[in-house]
Amino acid sequence: MYRLTAKLRLIKHACKSLHRQHTSHISRRVAEAKSCWISAQVALDETPGSVELMSAERNHARIYSQLCKEEEAFYKQRSRIQWLSLGDRNTKFFHRSLVHRQSRNRVHGLTDESVLLRGRSFWYIKLPTISSWSWKKILQSRSWCKGLFTSSIGNGMDTSLWLDYWLPDGKRICDLLPFRVLSSTGLPWNAKVADIIIAGRWSFPSGHQDLQQIWNSIPFHPRTHQLDACIWTGTAAGNFTIDSAWNLLRDTRPRDSKYHLIWFPGHTPRHAFIFWIASMDKLYTMDRLLSFRITTTSSCILCGVQAETHDHLFFNCPFSSTVWRDLAAKTLYCWPNTSWQRLLQWAASIFRKPKDFTHILSRMVLSTTVYYIWYERNNRIFKNAYRSPQELRAEAYEVIRVCIMEKDYGRVPENLKNIWGLPDS
Ligand SMILES: [Zn+2]
Repeated sequence: MYRLTAKLRLIKHACKSLHRQHTSHISRRVAEAKSCWISAQVALDETPGSVELMSAERNHARIYSQLCKEEEAFYKQRSRIQWLSLGDRNTKFFHRSLVHRQSRNRVHGLTDESVLLRGRSFWYIKLPTISSWSWKKILQSRSWCKGLFTSSIGNGMDTSLWLDYWLPDGKRICDLLPFRVLSSTGLPWNAKVADIIIAGRWSFPSGHQDLQQIWNSIPFHPRTHQLDACIWTGTAAGNFTIDSAWNLLRDTRPRDSKYHLIWFPGHTPRHAFIFWIASMDKLYTMDRLLSFRITTTSSCILCGVQAETHDHLFFNCPFSSTVWRDLAAKTLYCWPNTSWQRLLQWAASIFRKPKDFTHILSRMVLSTTVYYIWYERNNRIFKNAYRSPQELRAEAYEVIRVCIMEKDYGRVPENLKNIWGLPDS
């Protein structure tokens, strides 16, 4: 193996020079060979009987043919187009196919004038009937990303003066002024920002007063040694990211003040889900079912006295009140005796710390109690299974205790350790 690699190393330079000899500037060499061949043909036409010229013409033809083969091999390697072997020899179609293939597989840049934009503004180009899927999708995306991409002016060569978003406030001139005003400058519709830069400085065209105000609002100078750059306004760095686009486009609503009360670190999903529904007063309590005419009575199955509403279940009902009072006392907080929604508001305003054990415990006790009261209510209705408040409280207590013991919540106050029977860590 060593001998093989040593030999390969020895022929490395020879291979490199051979590769250079056959493939460097191959297209230029083919063009030169063709030119020499045509010259030899012209010379032979003028002196048809010359043996020397006949020999020279054949020699040039041979060289040209050889170079054409080498060029084909070069492009075959690069393009991986299988049909080249069928005899297509360096036609314009072949080269355009190469360009098309590259443009189909990759978006090189939206300023690629020879392929996609051809000098036109990305924001103004019409959707072509025949184009790659990716290019069509990019053009269709303009409807939502208009104005979210802006141009940072370098030399101004790649930015449309009227149609691109390059003004300091992220706007474009054609949205601010009518076409009549823009045409009064004498600059064409496809003018570039570079057209108003002379010797590295702005040379704003005089014209309408409103246009002059726009020129006056431009605080920066062109940087003629740099290319124009595309800036995504969704991130501080200007780079496009999917999540920043999503955050820019989606409908945002202020986060529910009760969010952290329900979805706290270490929450139990099934408890949190029922608690979440209950926090919106959307559980199918008897009063709601009665309003839908699904039942004929709204009486509470837990106490059998009052109507079952969210306010009653949480926690005005004598049954649920017993469960809740005992468990709430184990948080060492003094919970107010108030309506359901007010209780939630109070808890949401108090228990805000994500890592404080007493806050986590209080949120856990609230959501677990809500879950088990709803669980008991459903068991009574659908399974005819009844438990006492003490039994329900004992089960909820054990569930909360196990949840606490499973996770490491850092420092736990000693008195809470005793109440919840937690081991010394
Ligand atoms: Zn009740």
